[in-house]
Amino acid sequence: MSAGDVPTAGDLAAWDDRLDHEATPLARAAQYSVIARQDVGRRPAAPRPSRTRVFVVANQKGGVGKTTTTVNVGAALAQMGQRVLVIDLDPQGNASTALGVEHRRGVPSTYDVLVDGMPLVDVVRPCPDLESLWVVPATIDLAGAEIELVSVVARETRLRKAIQAHPLVGDAETAGEERFDYVLVDCPPSLGLLTLNALAGGDEMMIPIQAEYYALEGLAQLLETVEMVRLNLNPGLAVTTVLLTMYDARTRLSAGVAEEVRAHFATDVVLKTNIPRSVRVSEAPSYSQTVMTYDPGSPGALSYFEAAREIATKGGQR
Ligand code: ADP
Ligand code: MG
Repeated sequence: MSAGDVPTAGDLAAWDDRLDHEATPLARAAQYSVIARQDVGRRPAAPRPSRTRVFVVANQKGGVGKTTTTVNVGAALAQMGQRVLVIDLDPQGNASTALGVEHRRGVPSTYDVLVDGMPLVDVVRPCPDLESLWVVPATIDLAGAEIELVSVVARETRLRKAIQAHPLVGDAETAGEERFDYVLVDCPPSLGLLTLNALAGGDEMMIPIQAEYYALEGLAQLLETVEMVRLNLNPGLAVTTVLLTMYDARTRLSAGVAEEVRAHFATDVVLKTNIPRSVRVSEAPSYSQTVMTYDPGSPGALSYFEAAREIATKGGQR
């Protein structure tokens, strides 16, 4: 059944253990709708893109929701039946943690790909909770890569070459039916060589912006960097997606920031869905999970699902 439909007797029986029987009729109706949306989340709700879409999730500000967005959009797309690869490019390895993939020192990781030229295919690990999600973990070694890469030839395009050389990146003809539909790169909070490598290797850039007072500060510098990358390294890079995170619908501040952000970008770049501030979202990583599996009916999970649906439906033609 789809969200909004009346549940059948069969649905009710199947859902019995997921319903709160003490709830009022109104609360029950809300539960039906949540469960229905969870079930929709497990079905391919969007067609596959014709070729792999490589997204760079970047913003040099720390704590704006880059990692949270990468792992939850990735998980939501996987729940929609898409084949997703998350590349952790932050030495902190927070995306690896949230996706339940080991990232202690010595584990084959993005460091080996960037610094030693190890093929990406040799460092990809499956996410234990989601069938069609894979992860390239980051270890703390990556912290040294910014310096180690300085003397390396073509140091800004190491990740791009690695992504393009992966046999499952491409279209049906070059990469077959097993191809990745989405590659999401989680960047560190800086505009150094790691982020440059991501920007040089991506098709689309996603900028998470925290709905707070200083939201737009630093944005000009970020967009200048994108322009520089476009001119010198990757003419195909486009800022296609901006997502407002930690949005508080009760405050005029959040609404004001959203308005300002929308005025700054072309109409369809800022997603209609904002991600609310939600404790469940911030709790999930401590259980090595995304909120999409930790609490799929929570407002944060439903919002990330909506955001992923927007991404999957609006840009599939690229
Ligand atoms: P970044 O990767 O940009 O540094 P994170 O994704 O790590 O940012 O988020 C920073 C902090 O904010 C983390 O502790 C995270 O759990 C928390 N956080 C992110 N999004 C939300 C949200 N929607 N609601 C509540 N906490 C959030
Ligand atoms: Mg992060």
